[in-house]
Amino acid sequence: MPNLPDTEKSYWREAYITSLYPKLAEDLEVDAVIVGAGITGLTTAYLLKQSGLRVAVLEKRTVGAGTTGRTTGKVTSQHNLIYADLQRRLGREKARLYGEANQAAIKQINDIITAEKISCGWQREDNYVYTADAEQVARFKQEAVVAAELGLPATFVNTTPLPFGIKGAVRFTDQATMHPIRYLQGLAAAVHGDGSYVFENSTVTSIQDGKPGSVKTKVGSVSAKDIVVATNVPTLPLMARGGYCLLEYPTQSYIVAGEPEKEFAGMYISPDEHHYSILPVTMNGARLLLVGGESNISGLGGNKEARYSRLAQYAEKHFGVTTIDYKWSDRDYLAYDGIPLVGKLYPWSEHLYVATAFMKWGLSNGTVAAMILRDLIRSEQNEWAVTFNSNRLKPIASIPRVAAKYILPG
Ligand SMILES: Cc1cc2nc3c(=O)[nH]c(=O)nc-3n(C[C@H](O)[C@H](O)[C@H](O)COP(=O)(O)OP(=O)(O)OC[C@H]3O[C@@H](n4cnc5c(N)ncnc54)[C@H](O)[C@@H]3O)c2cc1C
Repeated sequence: MPNLPDTEKSYWREAYITSLYPKLAEDLEVDAVIVGAGITGLTTAYLLKQSGLRVAVLEKRTVGAGTTGRTTGKVTSQHNLIYADLQRRLGREKARLYGEANQAAIKQINDIITAEKISCGWQREDNYVYTADAEQVARFKQEAVVAAELGLPATFVNTTPLPFGIKGAVRFTDQATMHPIRYLQGLAAAVHGDGSYVFENSTVTSIQDGKPGSVKTKVGSVSAKDIVVATNVPTLPLMARGGYCLLEYPTQSYIVAGEPEKEFAGMYISPDEHHYSILPVTMNGARLLLVGGESNISGLGGNKEARYSRLAQYAEKHFGVTTIDYKWSDRDYLAYDGIPLVGKLYPWSEHLYVATAFMKWGLSNGTVAAMILRDLIRSEQNEWAVTFNSNRLKPIASIPRVAAKYILPG
């Protein structure tokens, strides 16, 4: 088995852990304050600033220190095999809007990178969800038909550039990959200045909705008409922490990365048992293969090192990776109906917004959230807002599903 490093370290964060922005040192007033400098918070801040608002982003650590700095780096609307299932459970229109929103997110990221000239290794790639199990092929064909009918760039294929055989795959063309931290640094640089701010090492300790509302840190506070909680899971206010526990559940996912024997293109994931999420990247001339998976309900993890070992063995067996240079893990949240939660924090909130439960696909879904939040804050129409509405799920009705996830994980 390949050697594994002793300590966890994200490849994306390796060169980007220093602080570039000041700490909030005094009271401030802006139009909108955003808590959290991951992809959701910074994209929301960027879009609001572009639409003429003065914004402040408060980050408790440094830009990208959260889950965005530990992602795989795929930007796609193909979130495993979901479209036939979404259509069956939620109806054709919601499935269509989910796909359309995530395709629009790819374009939005592309447009920001172009406008701000962000050097983040943005590369258009085909994404594949594949199976090595002949019995699953009919299901994959059905997914390709449904996704194409919903307007997505989907086709069923029998082969992929993977260095091993498959039985079938759904391919989405013109998806993308990028260096998430370099992208966030580009966003932060565009946000900071001209009456807008990014603050690092500024933990928000309390949030008050109102006219205006305010967020407090130990040192200073920021008052603003609108407040967005973009902390991946809403940890504040205290009541939200409890309430949202009933709407979403955390899963921990693991990644190992090392140099593969051969180069190949594309982005891959498989729902098959013992198959993983695969992304080859070439950055600054160096080749690296990311292999991710082994997810578990957070807190019910069992042996973490055994999970890394299984990923490393897989990387060696299928891609000839002999040394693992990086290993890391983080958690993301899943809503019970498979759609993120974006909108007012509570049904009665006046100017307090949330974006969470990105289903492990927050690079695109977090960007969708930012586009929805910009429109809600600007009182403009947004055709995806109802489908993603954070208040559509009922906490009491969710209790049996929460219990099932923890008692019968899997
Ligand atoms: C292993 C793994 C692989 C993944 N791969 C992919 C992928 O390939 N493609 C994809 O689309 N998605 C992927 N995801 C999911 C995606 O990374 C996340 O959904 C997304 O990064 C969430 O972004 P965010 O901005 O909402 O949260 P975060 O990036 O976590 O940002 C939240 C920020 O809020 C800050 N914060 C928290 N509390 C406070 C406070 N009180 N005051 C101030 N700041 C605070 C945190 O420090 C953090 O920086 C993956 C997730 C995991 C775990």
